[in-house]
Amino acid sequence: MFNKVLIANRGEIAVRIIRACRELSIRTVAVYSEADRHALHAQIADEAVCIGPAATKDSYLNMKAILAACELTGAEAVHPGFGFLSENALFAKTCDKCGVKFIGPSAASIEMMGDKATAKETMKNAGVPVVPGSDGIVSGIDEAKEIAEKIGYPVMVKASAGGGGRGIRMVERPEDLEAAVTAARQEALAFFGNDGVYIEKFIVDPRHIEIQVLADQHGHVVHLGERDCSLQRRNQKVLEECPSPVMTPQLREKMGEAACKAALACGYWNAGTVEFLVDKYQNFYFMEMNTRIQVEHPVTEMVTGVDLVKQQLLIAAGEELAFEQKDVHMTGHAIECRINAENPRFNFRPSPGKITGLHMPGGPGVRIDSAVYQDYVIPPYYDSMIAKLIAYAPTREEAIQKMKWALAEFLVEGVETNIDFQLKLIRTDAFKTAKYDIGYLNRNTLL
Ligand code: ADP
Ligand code: ADP
Ligand code: MG
Repeated sequence: MFNKVLIANRGEIAVRIIRACRELSIRTVAVYSEADRHALHAQIADEAVCIGPAATKDSYLNMKAILAACELTGAEAVHPGFGFLSENALFAKTCDKCGVKFIGPSAASIEMMGDKATAKETMKNAGVPVVPGSDGIVSGIDEAKEIAEKIGYPVMVKASAGGGGRGIRMVERPEDLEAAVTAARQEALAFFGNDGVYIEKFIVDPRHIEIQVLADQHGHVVHLGERDCSLQRRNQKVLEECPSPVMTPQLREKMGEAACKAALACGYWNAGTVEFLVDKYQNFYFMEMNTRIQVEHPVTEMVTGVDLVKQQLLIAAGEELAFEQKDVHMTGHAIECRINAENPRFNFRPSPGKITGLHMPGGPGVRIDSAVYQDYVIPPYYDSMIAKLIAYAPTREEAIQKMKWALAEFLVEGVETNIDFQLKLIRTDAFKTAKYDIGYLNRNTLL
């Protein structure tokens, strides 16, 4: 096992990784930007290195500074968390060259899955069902039109390099296609430096159900069941649960098998997530694979009892998975609410600033992954997620009840948050009866 790991991230996920390292007796190095001098992750790690100014390109995306920090501190491995450099094949490659272990899959696997159009092709060839659409990136508007006609409207225009719900446009009418392609291209270029887009059929009112996989460097792959992430605003997840209330043992087995196939097809090791859309007839379609730890990983941890971040560390250190598929059991029900510093009444605009008062809920079955504390100043430069609140109980009903009271108890003063919005959401009949799909929060603003 590693002696010292550097965490190339910030916020709650950096804290989460530091905790996992400590339990495995690994020393930790935090890196922080000038805006994050007082951030929790920088305070609780064994060592902390400033890697540059606030702007992410100068700090958390600054490969040279991060690798220099490894050299300086003698860290043998880097955990990239999610976002930032976590799905950057060049970073994985550069780590390798510098003799630093990248805690994630090989650069080749990241490359295969990072380009979403290529990933779809790979999956199709491996026999995994994919959303019907273009074979790879479309060359221009004429090809886009042709394909859209063939598969039928509505269609989705999607950035091949996309992530975080960016570079995606839904198109209902042929006359809107050109503008959507142009807009998706521009957004993709701005966010990902790559303007390739592909086209696929818009699946009407599906659920977003993803499968967690773990694969080691010795060819073993297991899946740890699903997460239902259908509650989204603008293609970004708001609340997740495990198990999915619409899952059946048969469907889980089929989707689990497809996810393991996906991992094997790209020679994968590490924790990973295979995302699917599931329609009302329980047809499922591969959407993308995220080659990293995911925001909503805690719901799977609660239900399976497997610590996914520790597994990432063990796998990267070359160990074999200590269990097989038949050893994976799902018990109870977990729900996660993403708590963001944002103002739902002003179109969910971010609300950075000083937390002047803070009380976080607790008690049996309540878990909080967070990096904020009393008097902490949330900087304006980064993601607005400040905490993840997870409720775990034997049944879905009990988990909902627990979550309601945990949300009601959660107090944040000084900045706006979406806590009341989450409370409204969990109180809806749609949530109670589990009759929601990915469009629910676009049709119902709950304000
Ligand atoms: P998850 O699938 O784990 O729920 P999200 O899609 O919510 O992940 O993304 C997690 C974080 O990573 C968010 O902060 C998001 O903005 C960021 N992110 C996701 N994909 C990318 C990407 N390709 N490039 C940069 N940031 C990304
Ligand atoms: P990202 O890389 O940004 O996470 P995804 O490909 O995972 O992009 O898509 C994000 C979300 O957009 C999905 O969770 C789903 O809600 C919606 N979506 C994507 N593709 C389709 C589709 N073909 N039909 C309907 N909704 C889709
Ligand atoms: Mg996705």
